[in-house]
Amino acid sequence: MNDDLAAHLKFFADLGVTGVSRDPRWRQRHDAAMGSDGPHARAAAPDGETDLAREAPPGMEPRDLPGPSHVEGSPGDAPRSDDAGVASLPPAEALLALKTDIGPLCTRCKLCELGRRQVVFGVGNPKARLMFVGEAPGEDEDRQGEPFVGRAGQLLTKIIEAISLTREQVYIANVIKCRPPGNRNPEPDEVAACEPFLFEQIAIVQPRVIVALGKFAAQCLLRSAEPITRLRGREFEYRGATLVPTFHPAYLLRNPPAKREVWEDMKKVRAILLAEQRP
Ligand code: URA
Repeated sequence: MNDDLAAHLKFFADLGVTGVSRDPRWRQRHDAAMGSDGPHARAAAPDGETDLAREAPPGMEPRDLPGPSHVEGSPGDAPRSDDAGVASLPPAEALLALKTDIGPLCTRCKLCELGRRQVVFGVGNPKARLMFVGEAPGEDEDRQGEPFVGRAGQLLTKIIEAISLTREQVYIANVIKCRPPGNRNPEPDEVAACEPFLFEQIAIVQPRVIVALGKFAAQCLLRSAEPITRLRGREFEYRGATLVPTFHPAYLLRNPPAKREVWEDMKKVRAILLAEQRP
């Protein structure tokens, strides 16, 4: 119990939260700030997480998900038929082969003509038990060729460290590998062209837990139109892993109170990983 409280306080301190209010209204502040559509309402989410809550995500048909249960199945939990090409290689080599296959200047979608500098493939431990999936590279990632290296990325690093892991121990990738102009949402044809590479990365790394960062990644992977406020707090079976949707770190930068929910999600992730280690 004390350990948990200490971890809780360390998480908030690491994320830059220096105090909390005793005012009971504080607990309602998050909901009030989010409005009826949750944290991704357009006015509250100017940095690329626009409100698709009632729409199908790009390239998807809206589908019903099963109701809440401990670990839910998901329509995106397809058989891992894409394993075949990579199964014979060790994960590090398989990832390298996949990266080579995509190439540094992929031309499979129109983003190659819309100002992206390079393909941002993915980074981390090829045998990671924990994988994070974001939306698409932003400007810093496009420049440096590595996912989550900007401000949101630095916050993600702190979130990873809050559960006593390092960036090097996990694997980090995005649904699409090239930066959309002006950080707009990826479009259906871009997702369709690029998503199979993410599925291959998942098949190679075979993580135990996948954390979907933000509405776009969660909706894309789960083939769901449900808002992130309804997806987070639940667990889904996904391509041999448990998928845990949570808020995007960019959203946390704008809405620090939502760190509370992310901490709940990360405790769940930690518990799943620890439970697996026990004899
Ligand atoms: N946001 C994302 O979704 N991915 C990145 O790599 C950086 C920011």
